[in-house]
Amino acid sequence: MRRIYCIGRNYAAHAREMGSDPSREPPFFFQKPTDAIQNVAAGTVADHPYPTLTKNYHYEVELVAALHLGGRNIPIASALDHVYGYALGLDMTRRDLQRALGDEKKPWEIGKSFDHSAPIGPLHRASQTGPFTQGAIWLKVNGQTKQSADLKQMIWSVAEQISKLSQAFELMPGDIIYSGTPENVGPVLRGDVIDCHIDGLPNLGIKIV
Ligand code: MN
Repeated sequence: MRRIYCIGRNYAAHAREMGSDPSREPPFFFQKPTDAIQNVAAGTVADHPYPTLTKNYHYEVELVAALHLGGRNIPIASALDHVYGYALGLDMTRRDLQRALGDEKKPWEIGKSFDHSAPIGPLHRASQTGPFTQGAIWLKVNGQTKQSADLKQMIWSVAEQISKLSQAFELMPGDIIYSGTPENVGPVLRGDVIDCHIDGLPNLGIKIV
């Protein structure tokens, strides 16, 4: 894996939830360090450490695309040719720090880009799954549904994400893209179990410890 790109505010209802107007402010990018990845095997529930410095630790369930071809200024029409496969991921967030830093117009690095902040399930080859342009995406905490939406509600599709990212950065094989979360993000505490789903992928499970 080379770089982890994340899309912020890529579902209109989530953008509004975070205090922005999706008709005026488009989605945007940030990065996490590659070693923020926590690999979670299918069919398991991995222990996930509650991080330091936060009292408001949030889940964000996201579709992840992994690239096997890079490039600059990639057209939308051919962008999905660059995708090796897809996975289910969590963009874990120290929401209190993210908000406080944002309010102060400071980088929100420690709110988003910390150790273990990117749990991810196994990759599934795009040649076998096909593209993920629609389908249910949901997240449960202790069996209770918290987030529930459809991938077709993304403001920027995966193809558009690749095209836009490639205007800002030279994309490379091994880059992965967290494609943004739907509305109703929320907190977890130690002992909580998160179960995530995207139609066509095995569920992803973690327990906060
Ligand atoms: Mn996110």
